[in-house]
Amino acid sequence: MNLRPPFDAIRGWLIDMDGVLYRGHSPLPAATSFIQTLQRRQRPFLFLTNNATKTPQQICQRLADMDIHVPASAIFTSALATTAALQQQAPPPRRVLIIGGDGLRSALQETGYQIVHNAEQAQWVITGLDQHVSYEQLGEATLAIRGGCPWLATNPDRTWPGERGDLPGAGALIALLEAASDRHPTIIGKPEPGIFRQALDLLGVAAAEAVMVGDRLSTDIRGGQRAGLRTICTLTGVTTSAQAQAFSPPPDWIIPDLRALLESAAW
Ligand SMILES: [Mg+2]
Repeated sequence: MNLRPPFDAIRGWLIDMDGVLYRGHSPLPAATSFIQTLQRRQRPFLFLTNNATKTPQQICQRLADMDIHVPASAIFTSALATTAALQQQAPPPRRVLIIGGDGLRSALQETGYQIVHNAEQAQWVITGLDQHVSYEQLGEATLAIRGGCPWLATNPDRTWPGERGDLPGAGALIALLEAASDRHPTIIGKPEPGIFRQALDLLGVAAAEAVMVGDRLSTDIRGGQRAGLRTICTLTGVTTSAQAQAFSPPPDWIIPDLRALLESAAW
């Protein structure tokens, strides 16, 4: 295993959170010192998450509770990426019908979009995970999509890990709306290239100069590869060493945890 990434050539870091920086409510080894090292060395980084239900400020607070201190601007959610994608295709003001939580709602409103609740008023449909969604809201979204509104979705995750087991995720709601509308959304979150392009734009670096650090092969690593980034797979999350090595093409580097990355590099 090559544990010596060419850090001098890496100008931008995209970093997954769950399974890389923390697991559940506990920080993972060296997460705090790794981020401090990036900050001290002035290496540009963004935390890249498919979680569209929380705002960057809410995520910041959660990280601060684990002694990881970053500004809200260091957190790039699929809600922000989806809003940025919408801005490029249809700048505000527009009327959008959403299925989603605080993270999506505030990203769209802060950018100047008007949230509407019935299909006839909607110009776009934007969907993400909404843990309080009703049949009525799903009906309005279905009617809007069937009526011809373009449809963006924040992320494709079919499930998310609840305390008692996996629960329906944004991808499960997409599947429901696809079944009802016979149409498919443009998905922005990992592993789709949209979120990577937006993040690289924000950092101001080219894909070839950036690295994606993540624990999930099907989203972080595949997405990073498709977007043209180099990839680092950490074994502190959902992937075993054997799975990472069997993946094709394999991640550029496979590391047991962030401590190994810190200790291996010529910073
Ligand atoms: Mg993860």
